Amino acid sequence: MSKRRIVYEGKAKILYEGPEPGTLIQYFKDDTTAFDAQKKAVLDGKGVLNNRISEFIMTQLSAIGIPTHFIRRLNMREQLIRKVEIIPLEVVVRNIAAGSLSTRLGMPEGQQLPRPLVEFYYKSDALHDPMVSEEHIAAFGWATPQEYDDIIALALRVNDFMSGLFAGAGIRLVDFKIEFGRYFETDHDMPRILLADEISPDSCRLWDNKTGEKLDKDRFRRDLGGVTEAYAEVARRLGIIRESGDTDNVVSFTGGSK
Ligand code: 5GP
Repeated sequence: MSKRRIVYEGKAKILYEGPEPGTLIQYFKDDTTAFDAQKKAVLDGKGVLNNRISEFIMTQLSAIGIPTHFIRRLNMREQLIRKVEIIPLEVVVRNIAAGSLSTRLGMPEGQQLPRPLVEFYYKSDALHDPMVSEEHIAAFGWATPQEYDDIIALALRVNDFMSGLFAGAGIRLVDFKIEFGRYFETDHDMPRILLADEISPDSCRLWDNKTGEKLDKDRFRRDLGGVTEAYAEVARRLGIIRESGDTDNVVSFTGGSK
């Protein structure tokens, strides 16, 4: 399997050369990291769950007209995607105060925000992804003014749709991080902005509606345990994996897939 050329290897994913020009294969690893990779673990089956959850969300977003890089899932851990030039920004949308917003502004976790907030962070591990403003993005040419407007509009549409999707599954979408890329169609001069990367419990904060239980990567960051089980619960509630069963279900679902 690994005869293919690796185009990029990140902390949780590997990108391989795709079968046709303009495509890549995105492979979901079980590796998980936090705090600039100072904290690391391998969570058995996490990659399989994130592959399925991201497929599900990207497919639903495509159906409502959000352009994404997702083409199709290939197997338990891989999906075929369009090759894009990644815009070097992490776009965070927040509905409820948590994480770095709570730390930065001293706002209690769980406080409803007056309206969704869109924030930008410059993608740089060495600099610890510093927060940046529209001024920096324009001055340094990370995105054109048109791309910036498109990204904000898309991020808010993604938030609207995903908030409803998770609400239907008894989950509050607290915040999430997405990334965008430029897709160069052969017969077009102007690139199109596509939603790229992944959307999964690794990149969202998801709280159970009734109990407030965390169903996302904060379980790993904060040593709460039951990380894969929480991701499987999200998948079950979204109807991606079958109801009933306990962690055995997860094990049988993810087993033998590496
Ligand atoms: P915060 O800024 O509060 O740490 O994160 C806001 C949201 O963006 C959270 O849902 C968090 O999981 C996500 N997020 C921020 N940075 C990253 C990152 O580098 N990788 C991933 N997977 N998610 C991130």
